[in-house]
Formats: sequence, structure tokens, C-alpha cells
Amino acid sequence: MDCIFCDIIKGKSEAEIIYEDENIISFLDIRPLNYGHTLVVPKKHYDNFLSLTPAELDYLTKGLQVISAAVEKSIKADGFNIVVNNGKAAGQTVFHFHFHIIPRFTNDFTFRPSFKKYSDGSMKEFADKIRVELNTKRDSING
Ligand code: AMP
Ligand code: ZN
Repeated sequence: MDCIFCDIIKGKSEAEIIYEDENIISFLDIRPLNYGHTLVVPKKHYDNFLSLTPAELDYLTKGLQVISAAVEKSIKADGFNIVVNNGKAAGQTVFHFHFHIIPRFTNDFTFRPSFKKYSDGSMKEFADKIRVELNTKRDSING
């Protein structure tokens, strides 16, 4: 399988690596939205967010928090976005799961597309559909 992030992990492709341990690798994005734009990547190949195991998610989010703080502090950013593009329709281009940490500076740029407005009653309809789906999943969250 062709995967640029697996190649970076194996040392077959170069990257500006800022952190690495047995489970996680973190390196700078080559097309940064702001300088210091960082990717946090599991060393094991998972196509997307939904295929991660709870254990992977656990250490990745712990790493994500520490790396985000280091990115923000070191480059004196005013804030940062954590972004996951999940699926082609959402803009995912590398199908090896990763978090983006995008450093932000006051008034740098806006990410916001136009907001939609729910028609009468439709907000509840959307919520009902999601609630029905989630009812069978409570144990995965709480258990
Ligand atoms: P996504 O669109 O969420 O799948 O993000 C993939 C990101 O990986 C993009 O922002 C790319 O700029 C970045 N990227 C692709 N190839 C490399 C590479 N060789 N080194 C660093 N970043 C990369
Ligand atoms: Zn991969």
C-alpha cells in the first residue's frame, strides 16, 4: 500500500520530525496554513478517525495535548485549531489518520463557511436520528 506517512515513519521519506516515540510521530506539514502547522500521527496505519482503537485514541490525544501546548508556546501563537479531515468529502487527502495542529494569530484568517439555518422542527429531527444511533452505543462511551 502506498502511504506517504508510512514512508516517513519507516524513514523512506524525509520530514521535519518534532517528536517520536514507539506509538506516535509528529512532524511539520509541508503545506502549512501558518508556520509551525504540525501533524500528529499514529505509527500504525489507520485509514481514518473511525478505525482507531480506543487505546490508540487515548495515547494520541494525550500526545496531541502536549504537542499542541509546545507548538503554541514555542512560536508564541495566540491560539490553535485542532482539525481532523475525515473522508474525501471532508478534505482528507492522506488516508493515514492524523490530527492537524494549526497555530493561529489574532486576525490571521477565517475558516468559517456560511452557516445553515434549521427549518421549523428539523433541528429535532436531526437530533432524533443521532440520538437513536447513539442509544445502542452508550457502553462504548461509558463502559
Ligand atoms: P489531510 O488533507 O487532512 O489528509 O492532510 C494531509 C496533510 O499532509 C496536508 O496538509 C499535506 O500538506 C500534508 N502532507 C502531505 N505530504 C506530506 C509530507 N511528505 N510531509 C509533510 N506533510 C505532508
Ligand atoms: Zn500509512
